[in-house]
Amino acid sequence: MIPFNKPYLTGKEAHYMYEAVFTGKLSGNGMFTQRCQAYFEKRYGFQKCLLTTSCTDALEMAAILCDVKPGDEVIIPSYTFVSTALAFVRQGATIVFADSQSEHPNIDADKIEALITPRTKVIVPVHYAGMACDMTKIMALADKYNLLVVEDAAQAVDSFYSEVSGKRQEVRALGSVGHLAAFSFHETKNIISGEGGMLAINDERFIHRAEIIWEKGTNRAEFFRGEVNKYGWVDIGSSFLPSEVIAAFLWAQIEHLDEIQNKRKEHWNRYSEALKPLADKGYFKLPQIPDYATNNAHMFYLVCPSLEERTELINALKQNEILAVFHYLSLHSSPYYAEKHDGRVLANCDRFADCLVRLPLFYELSLEDQNKIIATIKSVYSK
Ligand SMILES: *Cc1c(COP(=O)(O)O)cnc(C)c1O
Repeated sequence: MIPFNKPYLTGKEAHYMYEAVFTGKLSGNGMFTQRCQAYFEKRYGFQKCLLTTSCTDALEMAAILCDVKPGDEVIIPSYTFVSTALAFVRQGATIVFADSQSEHPNIDADKIEALITPRTKVIVPVHYAGMACDMTKIMALADKYNLLVVEDAAQAVDSFYSEVSGKRQEVRALGSVGHLAAFSFHETKNIISGEGGMLAINDERFIHRAEIIWEKGTNRAEFFRGEVNKYGWVDIGSSFLPSEVIAAFLWAQIEHLDEIQNKRKEHWNRYSEALKPLADKGYFKLPQIPDYATNNAHMFYLVCPSLEERTELINALKQNEILAVFHYLSLHSSPYYAEKHDGRVLANCDRFADCLVRLPLFYELSLEDQNKIIATIKSVYSK
């Protein structure tokens, strides 16, 4: 079976994990954690980064930092992973689900303003497949209505957004545009640490409190920098920081980030070129990359015309020992939230839930296997 995903090891992971163990500093916020955080801050222009044990945790930190309270409303696309909504639900928020664009699973920025009420506090754009949402429009709404923006950049490491204002074009890393952003290093993402994540903070107001929430509500980070002579309980928080063993693993991945990205982009482009003739004939649609977005090759997907045709395609691939998988089920009609949803129909989101299929894409995907996948898809539509 050609798997859908296979975690890639660069070779140095065990070495750095051994180093972390050997130096005797195993808990969080040690040398490897700080090295990873400094790397991301410098390379992508985040004001402050904090490694977390998952993207889910980073989102929970963001929800606490935004001071989301019962009765507050948070606007989230329905076509996303549970964690995006869950972090805010845990704070007691009411989730107002937004629809996707008609040609892209990302949130439709033109439909957000109609969802804003005096109780709206946060907008959470999710950069699906690592491709940017329309951040110019979203940040303008945040400005106009005094809202906070938390980017769910779980899939969006090393991807960018270009903003054109007049003649100037400014290119910014995803995760550096909103007030806060959450990344994932889960084994299904581009760079990994098994489970792992990161909160990026781009608004100075949040930095001090973020460190406290990260360290169980204590000012321990300040104490370690010698800024205070004792530390204690000063706020709410949890144990959001990963151990040094996890950070050491991540550092081995970071060292090979460019190589990993280049390889994934090669695979992505090969799919795109090989399948374009079939897309031109209307059998399915290929991923669209908006003008303002870059592609970090997190995912290659097709959008079939119907649920039936998608099921046929997935089954045909499975018969040929290829695992292709669909993705999110609409959160607004999930068993947990359907009763709480306000009843609006989110047709684009439902269509992506029914019709989108993801093809195997991972570093070690061989040319031979990729050719087999492409040939199998071609044979399905030559009948
Ligand atoms: C993977 C993912 C998450 C969750 O990441 P974890 O690190 O597993 O918590 C959240 N949101 C999106 C969009 C994701 O793709």
